[in-house]
Amino acid sequence: MIYLDNNATTKPLPSVVASVRTALEERWHNPSSVHRAGQAARHAVELARAQIASLIGVPARQLTLVSGGTESIDLAIRGVLSAGGGGALVTSRAEHKAVRALAEDLSDTFEVRWLPLGPGGLVDVDALPGLLDGAALVSVQWANNETGVVQPIERVREVCRSAGVPLHCDGVQWVGKMPVEEPPCDLLSISAHKFHGPKGVGGLWVRPGVGVRPVLHGAQELGRRGGTENVPGILGAGAAAEAARDWLDDADARARLAGLRDRFERMVVEACPGAEVNSAGRDRLWNTSSIGFAGLSSEALLLSMSERGLAASAGSACSSGSLEPSAVLLSMGVEERVAQGTVRFSLSRFTTESEIERAAEITAECVRRVGG
Ligand code: PLP
Repeated sequence: MIYLDNNATTKPLPSVVASVRTALEERWHNPSSVHRAGQAARHAVELARAQIASLIGVPARQLTLVSGGTESIDLAIRGVLSAGGGGALVTSRAEHKAVRALAEDLSDTFEVRWLPLGPGGLVDVDALPGLLDGAALVSVQWANNETGVVQPIERVREVCRSAGVPLHCDGVQWVGKMPVEEPPCDLLSISAHKFHGPKGVGGLWVRPGVGVRPVLHGAQELGRRGGTENVPGILGAGAAAEAARDWLDDADARARLAGLRDRFERMVVEACPGAEVNSAGRDRLWNTSSIGFAGLSSEALLLSMSERGLAASAGSACSSGSLEPSAVLLSMGVEERVAQGTVRFSLSRFTTESEIERAAEITAECVRRVGG
């Protein structure tokens, strides 16, 4: 199978599998136990925390380990809003459902203000100052999971900083694919399964001084997140972070993969009249390609591709199984018949040229078949 669904999840590296296995066999003790075996598990967890923290350029003690991107986002947003004095949340409809659905849920208790989106799905930074009076938190993603579009996060940060409002950034798709010298925000969410780590492990970095009220109460994680640590998952995430950091030193590798992605798009657009790349011409992650085949059903396309050995997805993975066009694409102004026929192809750092060529051929074949 040619796997171009890496924004949904990535294959764990052999070093990750080995760490998880070793942890299950040898480090299964509770890191909070005072005996020697417990302390060995604690030591391993803290080593992994340092590896993960170094991927995002922060001190390990500032990183809270959680059960993935969704929990990290929940802790950041719910935690800041409930620690504050009832201020508003500012976010956008381009966010992952983990943010949008949470915002809808919190809107019974807190005011939620939606930042408008401009062309390509970029947040309208000029509209931000007008939304910040009485705001407790702004949440803007770093890169979009459907189109790969990179948000102008530095500009968002400047506006938030001058208004004194903390900024949360969903970095789930960015971290591990792009280098981070220091987070361009006050709270950053990450998830290990997006960079060849295990599912069910993530992190929330919080800048010192930003108040976050725990959601899960307990003694662990310095009281910031209760629950016995997922030692195997955390050790696997540490191994994945270490490998990602090594790979990220190689800017040429990213450029080569971006070139492969661009080539894939050119091949598909040439072979399929009417196909259009969503957020084309914008700054996008090197690995993501969202292509609209107007008038076709993305589900039919995906099934046909899957029969021919190509795995991709429609909209975000979380909405697969549903025939609804992607809310994110619609909110950024993509026409309904294009959104309905949009397929997302997402590469990994291991995707090869021959896979890309074959994937473009299969895509063109499926478009002809489904369209004809
Ligand atoms: N945010 C973004 C941008 C994502 O792509 C995802 C996963 O698809 C999440 C958050 C949720 O992360 P997790 O699957 O680790 O809960």
